[in-house]
Amino acid sequence: CRQLLIQYFFWLYTRCWNIAVDKYLYHMRLSEENLMDVSRRFRREMDKGLGRDTNLTASVKMLPTFVRSTPDGTESGDFLALDLGGTNFRILLVKVSGNGKQNVEMENQIYVIPETLMRGSGTELFDHITECLANFMEKMGIKEKKLPLGFTFSFPCRQTKLDESFLVSWTKGFRAGGVEGKDVVGLLRKAIKKRGDFDIDIVAVINDTVGTMMTCGYDDHHCEIGLIVGTGTNACYMEEMRNLELVEGDEGRMCVNMEWGAFGDDGSLEDLRTDFDREIDAGSLNPGKQLFEKMISGMYMGELVRIILVKMAREGLVFQGHTTPDLLVTGHFKTSYVSDIESQKDKEGLVCAEQVLRGLGLDPSAEDCVAVQRVCEIVSTRAAHLCAATLAAVLRQIRDNKAAERLRTTIGVDGSVYKNHPQFARRLHKMVRLLVPDCDVRFLRSEDGSGKGAAMVTAVAHRLAEQHAE
Ligand code: BGC
Ligand code: MG
Repeated sequence: CRQLLIQYFFWLYTRCWNIAVDKYLYHMRLSEENLMDVSRRFRREMDKGLGRDTNLTASVKMLPTFVRSTPDGTESGDFLALDLGGTNFRILLVKVSGNGKQNVEMENQIYVIPETLMRGSGTELFDHITECLANFMEKMGIKEKKLPLGFTFSFPCRQTKLDESFLVSWTKGFRAGGVEGKDVVGLLRKAIKKRGDFDIDIVAVINDTVGTMMTCGYDDHHCEIGLIVGTGTNACYMEEMRNLELVEGDEGRMCVNMEWGAFGDDGSLEDLRTDFDREIDAGSLNPGKQLFEKMISGMYMGELVRIILVKMAREGLVFQGHTTPDLLVTGHFKTSYVSDIESQKDKEGLVCAEQVLRGLGLDPSAEDCVAVQRVCEIVSTRAAHLCAATLAAVLRQIRDNKAAERLRTTIGVDGSVYKNHPQFARRLHKMVRLLVPDCDVRFLRSEDGSGKGAAMVTAVAHRLAEQHAE
């Protein structure tokens, strides 16, 4: 009985603190109605991006990818893949054997891209990438071969064909000079030629969302959407050619890289953005850009929590009004802390909260830990729910395209936030089902989507090219 009473008081006490935080972060807690409204706005943005006359001024670019078909299982061979733009830079060797049952084996290696190179000159960045590639090929004993390569380049690009891709603008942590507006395949070819110690056949450039959709499509033929919630956020889906006014032809479908991270860049989310969101944006590498992404993805989630905590401390709501030099440094509240603090088991999360706060030089009370946990919950829930709102718009678009009453579809998903945060996926799924009850959605985690996907696209393109040559 005493135990129960203690538990009850603990619960009551947590409630009180949560209510205080909820009140403070009122503007970050979006109702189902708010989200439905976001979903409708996004659907209009999609239309704008797809239209020939409206695309130029649209913030959601709806970029054609020239990926029209998914693997059919007959592909085979050895393929190289580069994966740039996620948490890690990776190089992969993917062996696909397609006799009867498809089989994919891979070797992969993570390489580090120093921050100075991410934000230095483009030439240096591409020289570094090629150096890593040379190192990898040497290690695998394939330096003498001229293998087909797929390049997963996870940034907004205007493609004109599968192997030509002009960077629109850097996002996330990248800002290397002289690359925007250039064809990244050209830059890669140039860097390889300059070295002269190996040769490669660059067949395809793809976005990580596309890679994710392709790898999942391999296991589930209903897969027609790819979603990433990691360092950045974005999605792609199979659109009808007739709706894609930027590309000639009306037959069949093509995958569209939506670049939904830029949703709101034209001011269409101003009523939902908070002072915290504005502060994140002002201190970022690309102010005014990727405003939706900055409310959601892993690059910003921890920082959002930090900014909120600093504000709350200054107003005397936590830490007895104290801040520490550590708490005041940008980036010191890692997104992984948010995951730890929201650990399913309530107490475990609170223990983590205390450790994290002590690590930042604070001396938190029990109330502080409860409050910080609640802040994390609110920030990550908003992120999941915003993703649900845009996904719902995509689902409706596909359903309308098929003129189906009910849609049964699969979404391939990847990204560190989706995979590592203990509650994110559940909250996202739940809200999607609430917002589009007439869709049966399956969420499929992709294993190594961005890397393997590039190899898959390359394999398909390679097969088609060989058929063509015959
Ligand atoms: C990029 C997208 C990418 C997403 C996820 C965004 O910042 O603009 O191209 O798909 O991050 O990696
Ligand atoms: Mg990735």
